[in-house]
Amino acid sequence: MTRTKSEALFAEALKYIPGGVNSPVRAFRAVGGQPFFVNRAAGCRVWDVDGNEYIDYVGTWGPAIIGHAHPKIISAVKAAADHGTSFGIPNPFEVTMAKRICQLVPSVQKIRMTSSGTEACMSAIRLARGFTKRDRIIKFDGCYHGHVDSLLVKAGSGALTFGNPDSAGVPADFAKHTLVLPYNEIEPLKAAFAANKDQIACIIVEPVAGNAGLFIPKPGWLEFLREITQANGALLIFDEVMTGFRLALGGAQERFGITPDLSTFGKIIGGGLPVGAFGGRADIMDYLAPLGPVYQAGTLSGNPLAMAAGLANLDELSANNNYGRLEQLGALLEAGMKNAAKAAGLPVVFNRCGSMFCGYFTSEPVHNLADAMKSDRERFKKFFHGMLDAGVYLAPSQFEAGFVSVAHTEADIEQTVSTAAKVMKGL
Ligand SMILES: *Cc1c(COP(=O)(O)O)cnc(C)c1O
Repeated sequence: MTRTKSEALFAEALKYIPGGVNSPVRAFRAVGGQPFFVNRAAGCRVWDVDGNEYIDYVGTWGPAIIGHAHPKIISAVKAAADHGTSFGIPNPFEVTMAKRICQLVPSVQKIRMTSSGTEACMSAIRLARGFTKRDRIIKFDGCYHGHVDSLLVKAGSGALTFGNPDSAGVPADFAKHTLVLPYNEIEPLKAAFAANKDQIACIIVEPVAGNAGLFIPKPGWLEFLREITQANGALLIFDEVMTGFRLALGGAQERFGITPDLSTFGKIIGGGLPVGAFGGRADIMDYLAPLGPVYQAGTLSGNPLAMAAGLANLDELSANNNYGRLEQLGALLEAGMKNAAKAAGLPVVFNRCGSMFCGYFTSEPVHNLADAMKSDRERFKKFFHGMLDAGVYLAPSQFEAGFVSVAHTEADIEQTVSTAAKVMKGL
């Protein structure tokens, strides 16, 4: 497989764009080598500028759940674009979208659109702080909620110490209100609430964590988050930017039967256009400007093209038994990958929830970031490139989830699994 056109484009990109990319993971730093440039996608496949074809498990990081370039999304965007790309005054799509999300996700009584998941999480945190009149927040190690200052924070030296900036440019003063705890554990949460009585505004959590590979919540853990926040007057925010409309039409909260106070969304509800949203209890949402004292705004929020694309995505997702199909395809991939690893004599932990998955080269269960860090990342790099060169595109980092779409077929999964079997034998 040659990628000479991609190489030339990347060399050019490096001159004008920091690292050649507009989002760091695309630079392939975690796996080595260079990214390829895509100029066409359809169904579960992407084609690079050199004409190479790949079965895609990134799905533009989640939005492409019904496949790339779905005719219904494309025609909805074209029809909307004929009438103008942005108005800066309310448009009817916004009302349809808000109503649709409120119907599909019962914990959401009111919702506000943004242009990215980052903005949605940033705004939800501000709202939680404004509503509770408290400053401190809890997040979990390995969860990603966008590149918000107060959320780009890593754990401090002990469970009860507040976090340290995880990026240059984040003042320590901004990080000092963020407590970072291990995912899937209960005792550190109890200790944190005890040590910060009446000071915690909220917990923000990915109910299934897909930004450090994939962690599935242990039975009872999400319930515990609900209980401890309620008992302490803190809000529970589910970051469903990735899991929303993917794990069920009502997201992870439907799948696990938990009612958070606020939720954030993105990805699928934009159908591949830039989007985010946050919503929840009406009494909390009414704290937002223009009704309340918490300020939040956006020139392109509720953009008609993004709303049209997202609504087409949700329409199509609602129409058929897509979630049963995603579960079936996910299970097929899981079984095949586990068999391939076994045949090659490699220890693999394959975490999967519905259509989200991540395989780690390790023999120990992976419940949180500390577990994930013990996996063999050198082996993952070789596996990634072996798969890519054989026409299967997995996320270019051990610490990302993969996605199956309804556009994948049994034949695509079988081709993926037989490719993996060959590649694993060479590891
Ligand atoms: C992708 C993602 C975000 C950030 O969304 P952007 O649109 O990239 O800003 C936030 N939270 C989670 C869980 C995500 O997966």
